[in-house]
Amino acid sequence: MKLHEYQSKELLERYGVAVPRGTVATDGPSAHQAAEQFGGKVVVKAQVLMGGRGKAGGVKLFDSADEAGKFAGELIGKRLVSIQNPTGLVVEKVLVGELIDIAEEYYLSVLLDRAEQRLVVMVSQEGGMDIEEVAATHPAAIVRLYVDPAWGLADFEVRDAVAKANIPAKAQRQMVSMIKALVKTYIESDADLVEINPVAWTSDEKLIAADAKVSIDDNALFRHPEYQATKDDAAEDPIEAEASRRDIAYVRLGGDIGIIGNGAGLVMCSMDEVKAAGGNPANFLDVGGGAQAERVQQCVELVLMDENVRGLLINIFGGITRGDEVAKGILEAFGKIDVKIPVVARIEGTASDEAIRMLEGTQIVGAVTMQEAAAKIVALAQSSTG
Ligand code: GDP
Ligand code: MN
Repeated sequence: MKLHEYQSKELLERYGVAVPRGTVATDGPSAHQAAEQFGGKVVVKAQVLMGGRGKAGGVKLFDSADEAGKFAGELIGKRLVSIQNPTGLVVEKVLVGELIDIAEEYYLSVLLDRAEQRLVVMVSQEGGMDIEEVAATHPAAIVRLYVDPAWGLADFEVRDAVAKANIPAKAQRQMVSMIKALVKTYIESDADLVEINPVAWTSDEKLIAADAKVSIDDNALFRHPEYQATKDDAAEDPIEAEASRRDIAYVRLGGDIGIIGNGAGLVMCSMDEVKAAGGNPANFLDVGGGAQAERVQQCVELVLMDENVRGLLINIFGGITRGDEVAKGILEAFGKIDVKIPVVARIEGTASDEAIRMLEGTQIVGAVTMQEAAAKIVALAQSSTG
């Protein structure tokens, strides 16, 4: 679960990271009031969970509270669109932050390196810009420091990495402290990402987190009840947010063939088969065990919220769950919702013959193998849209 910038800053501050003073506002007048607190010298920042927010016009500096309040009022309720998020997100809150006088910008993050099976700290002198771009154009500018899971980080290692990253001598001591605080935040908060970009070096020689991005491992959210309440808002995509509310494992992928299956592995196979048949998966959706009518209905509704979907593939392997029960669930679900696009269902396993017979004469086209089902749905989707 991604935390908003203001939540990330609150968390980091508790671990001793310096952050600019700031107030969250949900309308123009309260943003104006917040800006007055800081003498009008503020930065107004849209609190949306998407990359490229600054370039999308979601971050602006001011030296008057009137201007800042006016901008905030216009920004709230507006949809911000960036290269990283073409669908965009509606701004609901802004952070009104005290303006800091930035002399230099660095980069800092902690994440898990799965191949190394360790946490890795990434430090760079080149902050403020897209780190992927730095990685692509001059990878040597990013220094990686691996955290030993048993011993943690020794001070000398951190100092060494900071020096290697060409962080100026005057900023090194504060950078070392910030790195140690970040690693502690990461571990104790069950994070899967902590990133500060930019780490600001101010004209009065202070190292401050000008931006902050923390993501908490979803599987550890039960240990962090303070974030659970805002979990559903954390999805970048409105359909993913709805899926989270319905407790359905759904990921939007951008194609036009909707997919519903039981078991993550089977769903991924279905995605591969759709791709192999010349189609593009619109989503990943694991219906979970049982596949009761109501559950199936909820899943179908969810997949169809994506307006790009032109065909639906249902791929169920009946193990303990009988195929005919699944077919009954599907038929009940489709009796309640008006589905206008072609649907192909492949039901394999226990009582599958029965299941396929039950689907005969309905709007749902049966298929015996996954390959056959994928080929059918791709062809039907193409012919139904010309
Ligand atoms: P992002 O585009 O979503 O990553 O937004 P950031 O919070 O990183 O802000 C983008 C840029 O705005 C930063 O790289 C800074 O250059 C600038 N910025 C943000 N906050 C301040 C501030 O308090 N003072 C100054 N001078 N610049 C700021
Ligand atoms: Mn940033």
